[in-house]
Amino acid sequence: MTIRIPFYQHDLGEAELAALRDVFAGPILTTGNAVHAFEGELANYLGRGHVVGLSSCTGALHLALAALGIGAGDEVITTPLSYVASATAILQAGATPVFVDVERATGNLSASAIEAAITERTRAVLPVHLYGQMCDMKAIREVADKHGLFVVEDCAHALEGRREGVGPGKLSDAACFSFYATKNITCGEGGALAADDPELARRVRLLSHHGVAAMAAERQRDGYKPWDMTDMGWKYNMSNIQAAILLPQMPLIAERLARRDVLWAEYDRALSGMRGLSRIAAVKNARHARHLYTVLSDDPARRDAIVAGLFQRGVMAMVNYSPIHLTSYFRNRHGYRNGDFPIAEDIGTRTISLPFYPSMPREHVAAVADALRDALDQA
Ligand SMILES: *Cc1c(COP(=O)(O)O)cnc(C)c1O
Repeated sequence: MTIRIPFYQHDLGEAELAALRDVFAGPILTTGNAVHAFEGELANYLGRGHVVGLSSCTGALHLALAALGIGAGDEVITTPLSYVASATAILQAGATPVFVDVERATGNLSASAIEAAITERTRAVLPVHLYGQMCDMKAIREVADKHGLFVVEDCAHALEGRREGVGPGKLSDAACFSFYATKNITCGEGGALAADDPELARRVRLLSHHGVAAMAAERQRDGYKPWDMTDMGWKYNMSNIQAAILLPQMPLIAERLARRDVLWAEYDRALSGMRGLSRIAAVKNARHARHLYTVLSDDPARRDAIVAGLFQRGVMAMVNYSPIHLTSYFRNRHGYRNGDFPIAEDIGTRTISLPFYPSMPREHVAAVADALRDALDQA
């Protein structure tokens, strides 16, 4: 089957090529001026004190925990309804992910479920702003403060998110972003961490580069100086090549979100009243980052047939997400079973993500709706 309507299509072009040419004309392909310019622009966009460019969101989450001193023997509370990276980053830091169930309306980590999962080993909460809707960060911060926990946000879907005036990183210790191939801004693979605490940002930068503070761009500028490794680190620094691809997208964030708003409303109209489907509720007083447009099949048993039916009709749909705790790894190694987190499992067995990206032609929304109607009839 040839796909007529892709799930996602990036919008990289001449501006990114020109920025890459500038990097190629200079001596520094790794972390340097382009990365620092990108970090400045992202910090400015988010209103955060510091941004560190990294190679992935997974790496950003791992380093946030490591830099906060979280590791072996510690527990981090998170959601099972996310990409596996939210939980594997906790394992990479040496700590143990402890899942709690999600809100039925939004699929987001339920702030009211956190307290019951806290033990003497709990050190942090790691919320994920699913599909682009912010979690209730005020409630999460309140529970965290009451129990002396850190908060590290997975903002892979929520670059543009706001809720009651709260954006990424405002109420947390660190906010982590992804610039993976399908994210709202992208360089194929990339990530960043935003924080207000300069010391945390400094430690994350150090740990992203082997625990060695000296970097190539400084040698290029100042000449060779003896260097030292002061901490056990990893290799997660962002390159000038990645930053060059990201920089031209920064001034377009608002315009592309507006385009996502238009397509979103178009989908809402095209799908309204379609039988067999329901929707994730919109949070009030919030700006949705509109990362993924998802619907819920009323009948979980038919979900996979609907996705397959869309594929047969040339429409690429996805599932975000099958719950993490029911993957083979988490079942086998951590003993999770069906029924452990019923709401996450319910959404996870019903959710379907439809094609959605800013340059998607409006007619494609109607074509997806037609294909979905047919797929629903025949599933
Ligand atoms: C994409 C994604 C990640 C991982 O991002 P990478 O940059 O690929 O490491 C983590 N969490 C969520 C919710 C994601 O969608």
